[in-house]
Amino acid sequence: MSGLRHAAYSFPALVRHALTGHRRWPPALRLAEPKSAYDAVIIGGGGHGLATAYFLARRHGMRNIAVLDKGAIGHGNSGRNTQVVRSDYFHRSSSRFFERSLQLYEGLSRELNYNLMLSQRGKINLAHSPHDLEVLRRATNAIRMNGVDAELLSVADLGRLEPALNLRCRYPIEGGSVQWRGGIARHDAVVWAFARAASALGVDLVQDCEVTGFTLECGRVTGVETNRGRIATPRVCLAVAGHSSVLARRAGLALPLASMALQAMVTEPVKPLLHHVLISPAIHVYLSQSDRGEVVIGGGADVYNSYAQRGGLPILEANAQAAVELFPVLGRLRVMRQWAGIVDISPDTSPIMGLTPVAGLYISAGWGTGGYKAIPAGGETMAWTIAHDRAHELIVAFGLGRFASGALVDEGAASGVAH
Ligand SMILES: Cc1cc2nc3c(=O)[nH]c(=O)nc-3n(C[C@H](O)[C@H](O)[C@H](O)COP(=O)(O)OP(=O)(O)OC[C@H]3O[C@@H](n4cnc5c(N)ncnc54)[C@H](O)[C@@H]3O)c2cc1C
Repeated sequence: MSGLRHAAYSFPALVRHALTGHRRWPPALRLAEPKSAYDAVIIGGGGHGLATAYFLARRHGMRNIAVLDKGAIGHGNSGRNTQVVRSDYFHRSSSRFFERSLQLYEGLSRELNYNLMLSQRGKINLAHSPHDLEVLRRATNAIRMNGVDAELLSVADLGRLEPALNLRCRYPIEGGSVQWRGGIARHDAVVWAFARAASALGVDLVQDCEVTGFTLECGRVTGVETNRGRIATPRVCLAVAGHSSVLARRAGLALPLASMALQAMVTEPVKPLLHHVLISPAIHVYLSQSDRGEVVIGGGADVYNSYAQRGGLPILEANAQAAVELFPVLGRLRVMRQWAGIVDISPDTSPIMGLTPVAGLYISAGWGTGGYKAIPAGGETMAWTIAHDRAHELIVAFGLGRFASGALVDEGAASGVAH
């Protein structure tokens, strides 16, 4: 049971606060000033950094921890994504890891005492040619062999499940596959829930604290340099998403990552129209409908490297065209917002997790376009790894060493489109 279930959040207390104008409403979390030393420092207050800190404190009893963020917690990709969660991966190592993450998501609202609005509405992949269908059949078989739920859908099934879907679009739909346990979970809630729970366990959450370098002695990390002074620590975890290679270089590490903008947009809200998460690798778009009624649309990343958090106009246009191709009814809606985040993509599109050649420096990077679904298992396994100074068995395959050995975990086709 989370330590958050205390009197301040009880029903009588809620009523009292409502009647007294919330004057003595306790802050949900404690923002801290940085101390001069910690047992562990996590760089990056996104979902991965916060979850790692939470599990370190909760499961491994390490309480003298800081999460440092150069801005505000949750303002990176963890607060900018399209919220898709799923575990239908092809390779066994990915499947085990992402399935663990989905299982954790299934119990996370209870563990963190925070409604994450997990909606397992089903995540559907569309096939637009006989070859697409063959690929889906092979993937579905592999996923089932991995012990994860997946099944094939006929055109008639799709027509029944999504009545507004244009089955006779430019590349007519030939069938599909579904993971029923896939869906979406509210991204801000995931960040705030982990932040609140970590804070309640004594973790220092430090905003506006940019890590600018590392202090190293005899190949071991001894601290970090920040815009607010030096912090001594024997353990540092890098969880800074699109800025991983920039920061790792300051510790002498070259990471095989390309950083580029990934964008998404939402339409004005409408009544329920789209009932599942829908993905079309061929037309290159994915869509879902938020609880507020907005249609959330995403597609591929920009095709050039950049740290400008905007997203290019050609991709925006392509995403909108593709969405209307699948759901012509969307052509009558206005786009309300568009935004982007910087994602770091590895050569095999799988994450890079675990130890590094610098002793005491751990890494959680390469999450690319799909690391939101991995936040619970990413935090759980990185915490174990830091506590034991050894890679957790679920992440051994994702070590940096695979780029030297050649044992890549190629999941480029896992989604077909970024998400
Ligand atoms: C448009 C879009 C859609 C996406 N859709 C999905 C999806 O549907 N499903 C899915 O699974 N994934 C999705 N993703 C990917 C997912 O959002 C990311 O993989 C995930 O959020 C990464 O989490 P993180 O904690 O590693 O990084 P972040 O949440 O980005 O956190 C990193 C933090 O590090 C901080 N930081 C950076 N440099 C420094 C420094 N020098 N010092 C201190 N702090 C620093 C940043 O301020 C930031 O807060 C999407 C991404 C985008 C951009």
